[in-house]
Amino acid sequence: MQDDYANAKKEMDKLVMESLKGKEFKPNVMFGKLSELTKTMSKGIVNWSRKNSLWPLQFGLACCAIELMDFGSSRIDAERKGYLLFRATPRQCDVMVIAGWVTKSMIPEIKRMYEQMAEPRYVIAYGECATAGGPWWESYNIVKGIDQVLPVDVYAVGCPPRPEDLFLALMKLQKRIGGVIED
Ligand code: SF4
Repeated sequence: MQDDYANAKKEMDKLVMESLKGKEFKPNVMFGKLSELTKTMSKGIVNWSRKNSLWPLQFGLACCAIELMDFGSSRIDAERKGYLLFRATPRQCDVMVIAGWVTKSMIPEIKRMYEQMAEPRYVIAYGECATAGGPWWESYNIVKGIDQVLPVDVYAVGCPPRPEDLFLALMKLQKRIGGVIED
């Protein structure tokens, strides 16, 4: 019985294949366009959501962290752009602001936090020390820039950098996520 059914199926498949021989199938243009449109729109919506919901990690390494705290003051009013939602756990963040010099002994901890962050994740090197080692660049235990350890998206210069520079860096990051490439 089982064999009969298998043969019947084989025969039916053969008949279908024969009936389709020589026929040309063109892709449905309307559905093709619709699918392209949906893909483009969903990509745009995802990028728009990403760029407008940045979640920075709440941590600092040295004196630049004081500037990071000032960034939270009413004078800067970072809340108007939604930048002030610093989270205390890397699992709820997608932006890491490296504020201060990076000692070699801190690298495993910074890497661990970075790896625990949600993807896609971004890094801002905030200040001279995070960018290139700062005044301590010749020291035996200071890393000459966090870009030797993590991929950096935006650099903010200054020693100390101003809180406004962090505001600008976050705006640049938003543009970058939205697909705008700047010098
Ligand atoms: S850049 Fe200047 S202010 Fe910032 S951590 Fe280095 S020494 Fe301190």
